[in-house]
Amino acid sequence: MSIDPAADLPFYYGSISRSDAEQHLKLAGMADGIFLLRQCLRSLGGYVLSLVWNLEFHHYPIEKQLNGTYCLTGGKPHCGPAELCEFYSKDSDGLVCTLRKPCLRSPDTPVRPGVFDSLRENMLREYVKQTWNLEGEAMEQAIISQAPQLEKLIATTAHEKMPWYHAKITRQEGERRLYSGAQPDGKFLIRDREETGTYALSMMYGKTVYHYQILQDKSGKYSMPEGTKFDTIWQLVEYLKMKSDGLLTNLREACVNGKATENTPSLPGTRGKRQNGYTPPPRAVAAVSMPAVAVAEHRDVLPMDTDVFNPYHNPNEVRKFNIQRTQLLIDEVELGSGNFGCVKKGVLKTDSGQIDVAIKVLKSDNEKLVKEEMMREAEIMHQLSNPFIVRMLGLCNAENLMLVMEMASAGPLNKFLSSNKDTVSVENIVNLMHQVSMGMKYLEEKNFVHRDLAARNVLLVNQQFAKISDFGLSKALGADDNYYKARTAGKWPLKWYAPECINFHKFSSKSDVWSFGITMWEAFSYGGKPYKKMKGPDVMRFIDSGSRMDCPTACPERMYAVMKECWTYKHEERPDFKKVEESMRSYHYSISNKAKPEGAAAAAAAAADPAAAEPSK
Ligand code: AMP
Repeated sequence: MSIDPAADLPFYYGSISRSDAEQHLKLAGMADGIFLLRQCLRSLGGYVLSLVWNLEFHHYPIEKQLNGTYCLTGGKPHCGPAELCEFYSKDSDGLVCTLRKPCLRSPDTPVRPGVFDSLRENMLREYVKQTWNLEGEAMEQAIISQAPQLEKLIATTAHEKMPWYHAKITRQEGERRLYSGAQPDGKFLIRDREETGTYALSMMYGKTVYHYQILQDKSGKYSMPEGTKFDTIWQLVEYLKMKSDGLLTNLREACVNGKATENTPSLPGTRGKRQNGYTPPPRAVAAVSMPAVAVAEHRDVLPMDTDVFNPYHNPNEVRKFNIQRTQLLIDEVELGSGNFGCVKKGVLKTDSGQIDVAIKVLKSDNEKLVKEEMMREAEIMHQLSNPFIVRMLGLCNAENLMLVMEMASAGPLNKFLSSNKDTVSVENIVNLMHQVSMGMKYLEEKNFVHRDLAARNVLLVNQQFAKISDFGLSKALGADDNYYKARTAGKWPLKWYAPECINFHKFSSKSDVWSFGITMWEAFSYGGKPYKKMKGPDVMRFIDSGSRMDCPTACPERMYAVMKECWTYKHEERPDFKKVEESMRSYHYSISNKAKPEGAAAAAAAAADPAAAEPSK
């Protein structure tokens, strides 16, 4: 399976160098507006558009944004490389000219895979499987939803699988390894610098080994002193193979790590076709820097086990129930508030770095009851581990009782949608609501009832990644129970509640399904208020009479059909989350599958057809 959205474009060459791109354009005749697309070596998931004008070459980097869109520096966002090229074939919008004629790959020039391409999928799979203990279908779904966010993270540790990576060895040991065997110019290895957490490059030149420190700037990018900056170590190495960038010579032959020879996967262009299946990385388990979650001896070392791993994405490492006050920096910025107190922005310091967190701070004058409530919420959250549920990282009992959670910085879904109406597509909402259904299916399987599912309690990490939050009303059901019965009615969100909650105080996963339907309605109406100005009792009468809210304007029919099923009056006849998630998934996949190939193919066809690509004269 190729996840490179440019893979099918006839003018896409994959991972080729700038000079190779220029060579192809020369061979194609150097007409004004002739262009090709290639993989960008510097920015992950990015491309470079190489274009001819006036017998000169122009190379434009295309960045992949976190929300999954693609843009030229300062240009408009586009949903894919094909759509971007199609746009610039009609409007130069800052380029030297429009894209007029694609420089097509000849049949004997296959798309050249990048070094990371062959590793990416297995690494993603392993990461999702191990971090969230997911298997089978649940894992496949998580991979699809999380790939864009995880890809970058995984890529930052991909060098650990490369034959030239020797992990933590001394400078002397590096020299010993390079001097053993043949000593051609450009033979090289990368090693961890002792104690500093940075990397060094050791390279042979004129039978002498030279050492270079690899710099890392504040944003985490790697470079040689005053050289080009890269997101990852392996991109830097690939670049230095093509360009010396201040070194005595280009990198050439890898000094192969002994362990890597047995285990390292064949990389495109260096060895034969790689076998499917995960290959253990060259680094030994002994190098693992994660005592907290004792990594099983038999387990492969995964990205999250390494020092460079961003702990925000490795919640298991920081799932310590008790957090020391000295580990927390609390910002004045308030993210929100409630009866209990407020939620503040903060930073949690861990052994392997700092993590942005959200801190629920209990008001100091709060009575015992509220404190107990917060402890119960913490207890529930502590038992949950799913990508689509906000994680609790721990509790800190200091000047106030504080619940420390992972940060979902784009905030509540209803607010996000109402203030970003123009940039959020319906497909985007389907994806987010599918994620919510996956999180709810997980809760259902674990026999937890949420009891306050609403768009305000779905928080966004970013535009493409949703997490269910606020477990203040949640309950863990007993093994033999399928509902929780509240003794008395409280301050309840009635508009989100199923009839059996209101009439009999009975709460189950099926009543959460009803709330999911209301949450869907809120989402597809871009943060609209359910039942408009009706009061609680009016809503009950409305529902009892068999009426239901209308389909929001932008909502696809099939999504409205799911909502109405969620609003089945009798809970016995209402679908469960297993069924709801299936419906969400099948619709989500049907539209995303349709949108991608069709969009890409149409753009490719337009670009491949000079008449279509050329502006009318
Ligand atoms: P809650 O009482 O849990 O609903 O939190 C109140 C408000 O605080 C929410 O509506 C959010 O705006 C904010 N908030 C709560 N938890 C988080 C989080 N993990 N990340 C970001 N913001 C949060």
